[in-house]
Amino acid sequence: MVRTWLPFVSYNLWLQFAPAVGQERWHCDMKRGFDRARKREPQVAELLAQDNIAQRIGILAQGGVYEFHKDPLMLYQRDAVQKVAEILQLSQESAIVRDRVISIVENYKNNPILFGKQIVKLSRGNEGFPEPIIMQHGNYKINLFAAIDCIFREEDQTLHILDFKTGKSDFDLRQAYVYLLTASYLYPQQKAVASFYNLETCKWSDNFSATPSQLKAIQAELIRIAQQHQKDLNRYRQNQSDFNQIFLPNPGTACLYCAFSSICQFSVSEVSI
Ligand code: SF4
Repeated sequence: MVRTWLPFVSYNLWLQFAPAVGQERWHCDMKRGFDRARKREPQVAELLAQDNIAQRIGILAQGGVYEFHKDPLMLYQRDAVQKVAEILQLSQESAIVRDRVISIVENYKNNPILFGKQIVKLSRGNEGFPEPIIMQHGNYKINLFAAIDCIFREEDQTLHILDFKTGKSDFDLRQAYVYLLTASYLYPQQKAVASFYNLETCKWSDNFSATPSQLKAIQAELIRIAQQHQKDLNRYRQNQSDFNQIFLPNPGTACLYCAFSSICQFSVSEVSI
């Protein structure tokens, strides 16, 4: 099927546009510029490739959960952790990735939170881009990309969208709203809630839901972001020397853990806190 190209949006793009509450000082719009407008430049591509440890852990952790539910008998096997590690080929990963994923797999084996649930969908983690959802405002259409980790059905038939987290970062309520908006397209008329579960700390968030008017507001915001992002990319393509004006730098704390600090002319290495 030939798909027409459309401007796109995702939770990750929203996050690059505007920080989560409490994360303002770590935010820098220029990172969006490097990541989205300059990602094919060799130096930028190399830095992006090095910056994928957290992403890699997330993908493999999801793969570990998937393996336990592909073969539920695995949960009862004494060497289950080793077997899952072999399936995930963890021996080929860096030590930091391997150790964190093994600990996640051990955690999950000890506390398999999906066990006994009516699972509707469970991602393997390495499927790549999900099918987009087309959203429309007037004549303007965009693609919404939202990769859902897991959906299970509660006893009262409510769809429960579960997002697996790793690491220390807090969840962002906006992501729950993006999932709930996605569910409203994929499963119209069905009640849905969303929550987050951290596979390393074993903490499960509250359940979140959204009213139709909240979902409408989220959709309007996502369409605005897709439109603005496209305008920014077009402006950059027409005049690359405007990079600093299109994607504004925020030198300071944000530079301390920025993947682009070695090539960014605004980078600062010392920050008074
Ligand atoms: S080094 Fe600092 S100013 Fe440059 S992109 Fe990163 S956070 Fe922004």
